[in-house]
Amino acid sequence: MKRTTHAVVAGAGMGGLLAARVLSETYDQVTVLDRDGLPDEGVPRRGVPQSGHAHGLLSRGSEILEELFPGLTADLVATGAMTCDAQNDVQWFGDGHPLLRAPSQLQCLLVSRPQLEWYVRSRVAALPGVEIHERCEVIEPIAGADGTVTGVRLQRHGQGPEDMPADLVVNATGRSNRGTEWLRRLGYELPAEERVDSRLVYVSREYRRRPGDTDVNAMVVGHTTATPRGGVALSGEGDRWLVTLFGMGDDIAPVDPDGYHAFAARLPVPDLHRLLERLEPLGPPRQMRIPVSIRRRYERLGRHPEGYLAFADALCQFNPTYGQGMTVAACEAAELRRCLADGGPTGLAGRFYERAARIIDVPWDMSVGGDLRFPAVEGPRTLRVKLLNAYIGRLHAAAAADPVVGRAFLSVANLQAPPQRLLSPGVLFRVLRPRRGATAAPQIVAAEKIPVTR
Ligand SMILES: Cc1cc2nc3c(=O)[nH]c(=O)nc-3n(C[C@H](O)[C@H](O)[C@H](O)COP(=O)(O)OP(=O)(O)OC[C@H]3O[C@@H](n4cnc5c(N)ncnc54)[C@H](O)[C@@H]3O)c2cc1C
Repeated sequence: MKRTTHAVVAGAGMGGLLAARVLSETYDQVTVLDRDGLPDEGVPRRGVPQSGHAHGLLSRGSEILEELFPGLTADLVATGAMTCDAQNDVQWFGDGHPLLRAPSQLQCLLVSRPQLEWYVRSRVAALPGVEIHERCEVIEPIAGADGTVTGVRLQRHGQGPEDMPADLVVNATGRSNRGTEWLRRLGYELPAEERVDSRLVYVSREYRRRPGDTDVNAMVVGHTTATPRGGVALSGEGDRWLVTLFGMGDDIAPVDPDGYHAFAARLPVPDLHRLLERLEPLGPPRQMRIPVSIRRRYERLGRHPEGYLAFADALCQFNPTYGQGMTVAACEAAELRRCLADGGPTGLAGRFYERAARIIDVPWDMSVGGDLRFPAVEGPRTLRVKLLNAYIGRLHAAAAADPVVGRAFLSVANLQAPPQRLLSPGVLFRVLRPRRGATAAPQIVAAEKIPVTR
């Protein structure tokens, strides 16, 4: 008789849910355990403290989510989310330059993090063989004599510890994960860590959205070395704007409403402050200190436990201003699916870590390279990093007048094209050619659609 196979996923955040979705194709049973209460509506929750702050879903991420959950975009739009053209319907400011808006094929989904997570959780819970248990904390994985992980020790709310056997345990417990401590207790060496602390602080506030507030669905103001303060305003369901202002070190947005608006007036460009001045606030500003970015090099371990995977933020947690975390989790889920299709559960950990590292390389380099523009951020500033940052500065200036350059930048930032695209001859020429006075004000051009190039 065929043995029933069981995968346990620790953590029902975005990473855990996406892992559960793909594991359900291979394992007979998938049990997702979360120590938090899981609401049956799209509201922020304690176990995901970032859920009340702006979450942008990159174009690549929304594409994978739609593949994993057909109909997701239409369903979420029916609940008030919005699709938008990332170049035409969003006003971007890079290094203080407005990226020239133009129609493109870069489609994005604007949806709040709680609503997206609630929707994905409902779809995962409806899959055959999948169960989601709330208020159930994973204490640690348990292993057999040969070091292979054979299940987890868990504790349900108000009860004593119990063991749950599993053929695979996925650690998707997010930024607070204790994965390296778990490995140490199982007697394994620990993965090397790369850390970058950009000392970011987010302060977010909701506002009512009314027709005519502005002609875009989102605004993104990047911080500059001269003015290390930035902000985003994202449309979301419930006719709301979610606005997040961020600063570094001690230069952070206050949580009192007047101070909050005054901080917005000190961003590199006045546009977001002008928008805020027109909006009706729906609650007080809320602050969150952003933990350090950490990449854990599991792929470099000589020996790692079979039957165990670190996933999503437990593998790599990014500076959130680049909006990459959920999309990287989606890419990892798609890769996990391919790893299982290629070789099944045998040797899965090594195969997955190696391929996940290739997924993480690009967004990690982009966010760390961007962080290292700021003198207060510690880290090795190689010649390559310095040259690339100087080039990106010129690219932002060129993108104010040239939609092809803006298109290339957004394709890379949305993880739809490799970074080499920014150095392709067509883009390089447009960035480096001398231009007479870059445009200072946002403009909309009726350019032809510029195709996506992967
Ligand atoms: C302020 C901020 C803003 C962000 N903005 C963006 C953005 O714009 N775009 C984007 O793509 N990403 C963004 N991210 C990153 C994004 O939130 C994560 O990358 C994404 O949610 C994937 O994380 P995860 O599933 O690993 O962890 P999470 O989504 O944080 O989920 C972890 C889950 O594990 C549970 N848990 C923890 N410990 C245990 C345990 N011992 N047992 C059981 N359950 C446990 C928690 O309750 C939680 O449900 C942002 C992050 C932060 C901090």
